[in-house]
Amino acid sequence: KAAANILSMNSIEVLYDNVMLAIKGVSIQVPKGGMVALLGSNGAGKSTTLKAISGLLKAERGRVSRGEISFDGSVITDLPAQQRVEMGICHVIEGRRVFEHLTPDENLEAAAPMAMNRATLKTEKQRIYEYFPRLAERKNSQAGYLSGGEQQMLAIGRALMTQPRLLMLDEPSLGLAPFLVAEIFSIIKKINKEQRLSVLLVEQNALAALEIVSDGYLIENGRVVMHDTAQALKANSDIQEFYLGGG
Ligand code: ATP
Repeated sequence: KAAANILSMNSIEVLYDNVMLAIKGVSIQVPKGGMVALLGSNGAGKSTTLKAISGLLKAERGRVSRGEISFDGSVITDLPAQQRVEMGICHVIEGRRVFEHLTPDENLEAAAPMAMNRATLKTEKQRIYEYFPRLAERKNSQAGYLSGGEQQMLAIGRALMTQPRLLMLDEPSLGLAPFLVAEIFSIIKKINKEQRLSVLLVEQNALAALEIVSDGYLIENGRVVMHDTAQALKANSDIQEFYLGGG
């Protein structure tokens, strides 16, 4: 029987360098086809949570020291990162990494799985350009000359080329003008709805994130201190005071 949650993280602890306890028993759930936000300030443990899910902790001398993570019903806690990618877990790390010397078109092609045939490659690129018309306009210029917002769109486009089942985005709004944040977030929402793609969004910009997710978790000092619907979180006075103030 298929699980209702595509992702289920239960009481996860993460240690860096065997001493630094970065998250201390975090439990989060992402429903199939759902869209969930992880909110919290700098250093709260949001990126670490995503790395525990994608398996990127190892590269930073981190490890899950307790708890269990399931993806679509299978335990993935200790699987190699590459295997998780093949299962459909895609992690767009903070800082919009793209190949600056390649064009957006080449960037998208480079992100496609080896096994993807020419025809599928073409349809997939077309689908991404439909979601991001700005990228289509600039598909043959060097990616290094794109604006920050366009590079973030390209980073998301590259993620979509892997045909993920869970898309995890770390701070996609970082350093972007508010109108661009709104544009990118509405595209993410559209993709979530139309493709039924499950999304886990890490954001310091709680105001923007709570506009598009169904529910959110607030992380402080490596612990989930609040979990509620987006509507309830927006109405919460602590959230308003500490996380919505600056926008
Ligand atoms: P940010 O938005 O700054 O990335 P965050 O909420 O994502 O914040 P994390 O990056 O997950 O927070 O960091 C959580 C804690 O783990 C912090 O105290 C941080 O200093 C520590 N930490 C993160 N990465 C490492 C690492 N590679 N080695 C040791 N400690 C780390």
